[in-house]
Amino acid sequence: MPDIAPIGSRIGKYMDIPESAKGPAVDPAKGYRIQDLGKGLYMVTDNIYQAMFMVHEQGVILVDAPPSLAAHIPKAIAEVTRKPVTHLVYSHAHIDHIGAAQALAGKATIVAHEETLRLLQQAADPKRPLPNITFKDRYTLKVGGQRLELSYHGNAHEPGNIFIHAPEQRTLMVVDVVFPGWMPWRRLALAQDVPGYFAQVKLIESLDFDVLVSGHVARTGTKADVTLQREFIEDLKAAAGQALGSTALGVGLNPADGSNPWAVFDNYIDRVALQCVNTLTPKWGKRLAAFDVYIWDQCYTMEQSLRLD
Ligand SMILES: [Zn+2]
Repeated sequence: MPDIAPIGSRIGKYMDIPESAKGPAVDPAKGYRIQDLGKGLYMVTDNIYQAMFMVHEQGVILVDAPPSLAAHIPKAIAEVTRKPVTHLVYSHAHIDHIGAAQALAGKATIVAHEETLRLLQQAADPKRPLPNITFKDRYTLKVGGQRLELSYHGNAHEPGNIFIHAPEQRTLMVVDVVFPGWMPWRRLALAQDVPGYFAQVKLIESLDFDVLVSGHVARTGTKADVTLQREFIEDLKAAAGQALGSTALGVGLNPADGSNPWAVFDNYIDRVALQCVNTLTPKWGKRLAAFDVYIWDQCYTMEQSLRLD
């Protein structure tokens, strides 16, 4: 068995978070911190979720409204300006990133991708009001002297998840794809399209920016964080592919289960995942925070994608 506890097992203590994954401390009395990204752009975070706001001459453009930051965002904006929120950009439709948007319904212009509109119509959730402006490929949100370049690059995490680029501030926000210093959230952050997810990490790595706002974790990211994640997922793909090719069917299976194809396959896939985990642990076990928490999920997701996509 590997040093990493198998999926579903309860262990005493997960591996310590490496220093490289930690961010600036949050004042416990406030519960959030603001990071000045320059030229009127700010990140607000509780070191778990991240939103962004941009101050222009007449008001504020807010990007995302996570429920966990609902009480913090108005206070954070008030630390910087007394102007109102005039625009709200949705990164994507998931409620954990925009579920506090209702407070701005009818007050701010909401901008999102057309697939996000479709998903929100389907959800019919009053917590997530429908966008007023949608786009297909690209949209420039220019308000006063400030500018955000919104673009869509297809499905990866979920349809409608967009890139939000602040060129003047050299900042790129893409949510739920790259996790600076951390293992991606389970199952490649629930990527709905795994090949699309690989393509999007590579695309992010190729773009011109200095700061990545990823929607999660305790700090902003750099190009080096994107490169590290790209290297990890490429190693994951290689390890899962190698395990699929070198694992034999039926080893250790009770012969009485030989006529149960579900059991035969489960036995095979479990040993594929075990080999995948054991291959990756020596190199990656201490480099990415929470490697031990989700490496089984990542290996199961990867072997499935390699067999089916
Ligand atoms: Zn999401």
